Amino acid sequence: MSAYDKVLEMIADKIITEIEAYEATGEWHLPFQSALPVNVVSGRPYGGVNVFALLASNKTSPVWGTFVQWQSLGYKVTGGKGCGRAVYSPSFTKKDEQEDGTVIEWQRPAKAYYVFNGDDVTHAETGEAYPYESANVDGRLSEIDAFFESINVTITKSHKASYSPSRDVINMPAFDAFTSAEAYYSTLAHEVIHWTAPRVNRDCADYGTNLQVRAQEELVAELGAVLLCTHLQIPVQNSRNDHYEYIAGWLKPLKEDKTYLRTAIKSATEAVAYVKSLAS
Ligand SMILES: [Zn+2]
Repeated sequence: MSAYDKVLEMIADKIITEIEAYEATGEWHLPFQSALPVNVVSGRPYGGVNVFALLASNKTSPVWGTFVQWQSLGYKVTGGKGCGRAVYSPSFTKKDEQEDGTVIEWQRPAKAYYVFNGDDVTHAETGEAYPYESANVDGRLSEIDAFFESINVTITKSHKASYSPSRDVINMPAFDAFTSAEAYYSTLAHEVIHWTAPRVNRDCADYGTNLQVRAQEELVAELGAVLLCTHLQIPVQNSRNDHYEYIAGWLKPLKEDKTYLRTAIKSATEAVAYVKSLAS
């Protein structure tokens, strides 16, 4: 199994566990947190499949680093067994120039390696935890409204959230109809991902008639909403219990088809990149 597939399988297992719990309890949410995972040394966010790998870890800190990176900052990993998370690093070609001017090209293979979360480290000398303050959601609402306005999506009031491809509009209940600002924006983010389908040539022509097409598109919308909410730094609240038919529809392909989650993550990432390009 490739390094990439190993990371995918870990994410799939997490979602499968959540679906099985949902069948028992009737409570549904994707097993992802929403603070964008960043590297402790570079400050850069993790990308691609690694966003989901790290969000699925049930940690409160968004900061991650390798064992050596934490050590270089004076911290030691003190979390229990299994506190590390495998992330994927693709293969790349590197050129090294020698002293005599010749250039040697070498290929570094794709691999999975372990990173550790800020929750699981303490300072080697003081014993203090790594500091982290969570974002204040309420203070950011006008910026988030401005973001959605800047992408020029048409939103009309409705009793139910949905995207209408024929009219190319997003139907949304009133803001006050939601239990929280996060619930409103998470729902809007989900519908915005549907709205990208015709714009990035994601084929959803059979959405209304083919349950498999529908299940795949809904998985893309849920994963895309997670990515978009992490970008906007708002907690995801994807607790839409009206979607049982497609949540159950994910179980079999997630267990049996390696390409299913890979395709959904790729499509979700593309959709979010498109939305971000409109907003910038
Ligand atoms: Zn949907």
